[in-house]
Amino acid sequence: MAGLCEGRVVIVTGGGRGIGREYCLMLAEEGAKVVVNDLGNTRDGSGDGSLGPAEEVVAEIKAKGGEAVANGADVSDWAQAKGMIDQAVATFGRLDALINNAGILRDRMLVNMTEAEWDAVIKVHLKGTFAPTHHAANYWRDLNKATGEQVNARIINTSSVSGIYGNIGQTNYGAAKQGIAAFTIIASRELRRYGVTVNAIAPGALTRLTEDLREVTEERKASGDPKWVAPIAVWLCSAESKDVSGRMFEASGTVLGIAEGWHRGPTATPVKDPNLMGPIVAELVAKARLNAGMDGKDLD
Ligand code: NAD
Repeated sequence: MAGLCEGRVVIVTGGGRGIGREYCLMLAEEGAKVVVNDLGNTRDGSGDGSLGPAEEVVAEIKAKGGEAVANGADVSDWAQAKGMIDQAVATFGRLDALINNAGILRDRMLVNMTEAEWDAVIKVHLKGTFAPTHHAANYWRDLNKATGEQVNARIINTSSVSGIYGNIGQTNYGAAKQGIAAFTIIASRELRRYGVTVNAIAPGALTRLTEDLREVTEERKASGDPKWVAPIAVWLCSAESKDVSGRMFEASGTVLGIAEGWHRGPTATPVKDPNLMGPIVAELVAKARLNAGMDGKDLD
């Protein structure tokens, strides 16, 4: 029986470990040809990196009869990101989906956060999403122009509840992940004309990124298996998902849902005198819905 992604060519950034690795394996099981990108970084993005983790995933896919190739680009490097898109097309003849998943963490209270800790996280997540997306989108735009047909292609970005809802100690990471949410919505509107959908996933899984955040119980191990996150990513890569774009999916072993974006809440008549603001703002705040906590529900 043909798989859900039979013959589709998919790049997974940060595909050597954790959630990305699971994406690669499940995509291959569903018939996709996979470009496994990973520069083999440490959790905080330091170190020289190595192709090792990506090559291990490629070997695993090939051992099961699938097709895959390793790529060692730093996704936040403009030229290397272009090289990754070119490699997919040169190796497999086309590109159908890009999953921007690579990420690092440098958690710190903002009063203690260094400039380097801020810059590194913003670069890998935000530029590491923009650069591959830019080059892939140009490839698809050219294809659309040349053929006159919708390309039926996909971008899947990676956000986090730390960004869309907000988590203490992660102003750098959360700002990047909230930025990726905005990027997703805007890119989905821009790329619709070529037949490219753009969605994001806020995943939850037990990986080296999260293993030391709380005690690792048997329950946490079971619900933290990245296998719970991969199905929505694989489905979004398929041709079947063509009518879904601009959405933020929350996916883990405990939830599969859609996070809803900002909406304008209560309003008041504008005034020019700041002395009048006190009671107006008090009324607006009393009427407005509370921000969400990390569980996506109203913060008390
Ligand atoms: P992970 O550390 O297991 O895997 C991330 C991979 O990205 C690593 O193999 C690393 O080498 C690679 N990488 C890092 N920087 C790179 C770069 N510049 N270029 C190429 N590859 C690079 O982490 P994970 O938990 O699987 O995280 C995957 C994604 O999911 C990240 O974007 C992360 O922020 C996000 N996320 C994870 C969770 C969770 O619960 N694990 C929650 C929210 C968001």
